[in-house]
Amino acid sequence: MKLRAGIDLGGTKIQAVVVDEQYAVLGQQRLPTPTKGGPQDVADAMAEAIRSAATEAEAEPAELSSIGVGSPGDVDDETGTVTSARNLPGWEGSFGLAGALQDELGPAVRIGNDVTVATAAEAELGAGQPYSSLLGVFWGTGVGAGIVLDGKPWTGRDAAGEIGHMVVKIGGAKCPCGRHGCVEAYAGRGAMETRARELVRKGEETNLFKIMEKRGRERLTSGIWARALVRHDRMAQRLVDRAIEALAAGIASAVNLLDVEAVVLGGGLGVRLGDPYRQRIEQAMLPHLFADDRPPPLLLAQLGDLGGAIGAALLAADGDRR
Ligand SMILES: [Zn+2]
Repeated sequence: MKLRAGIDLGGTKIQAVVVDEQYAVLGQQRLPTPTKGGPQDVADAMAEAIRSAATEAEAEPAELSSIGVGSPGDVDDETGTVTSARNLPGWEGSFGLAGALQDELGPAVRIGNDVTVATAAEAELGAGQPYSSLLGVFWGTGVGAGIVLDGKPWTGRDAAGEIGHMVVKIGGAKCPCGRHGCVEAYAGRGAMETRARELVRKGEETNLFKIMEKRGRERLTSGIWARALVRHDRMAQRLVDRAIEALAAGIASAVNLLDVEAVVLGGGLGVRLGDPYRQRIEQAMLPHLFADDRPPPLLLAQLGDLGGAIGAALLAADGDRR
């Protein structure tokens, strides 16, 4: 039996899976993304996650036929490098991630853009299966999208799908990318946390950071936002309302441009907040849709938060053929 590994490198977590040829998950491991150090520290944590997922699948890393990586930043699969992955520590420059992992683990490594591979996973194995055109929107630390047109991923000149940096308010809030008024400035979990900290400094009350401390975390994870919402935390509600408005305007604008058959919503927050919030985004899109008599369905990612890692394993299947 041929086993492959897929690993999703996120701003908050590293998720590894080991799958069989039918993409059934035989082993998995999730580790927090290092917040200090540099790319080599991140690569070490990734290797550890793959070793542990392989152990659960009763395999040695060297027995894997290939390893696929879904990474943020500018990805070059030819050279195996990842450049300026800004949500990761000390990763402003270029780093040979494929080589580093191959040196540590053995098998060939393929690298793809994190949201492109997660969208491919939903298109081939998840909620997007019935459609030939699809927008996958991933709502997490940042906000990204993958585009499938006529059954093929559309990556433009390598930077398509940056839905998080579509402008929803001219001269609006500062985005982590340095520009203003982007979707992500309102809806990215990173920007939402920055805003929450500002409001606390101004004397506003919230349970968000108390929940964070109680859970021994250093950041406001999706689980913490979800918990605060359940407890009717006013600040959390307000910031999530704002996120939904921005996301909905961005997704609706993308639909106006591409007229895809369906939109799949994933990412840490998208998956964690689930159907009630999916419905709210779908409703909030309506006023912005040009063809509002036939909105495309907004579907939850079926592969949940393993989608990115499974998508990376799909990429690894190409590695086998190399
Ligand atoms: Zn931006």
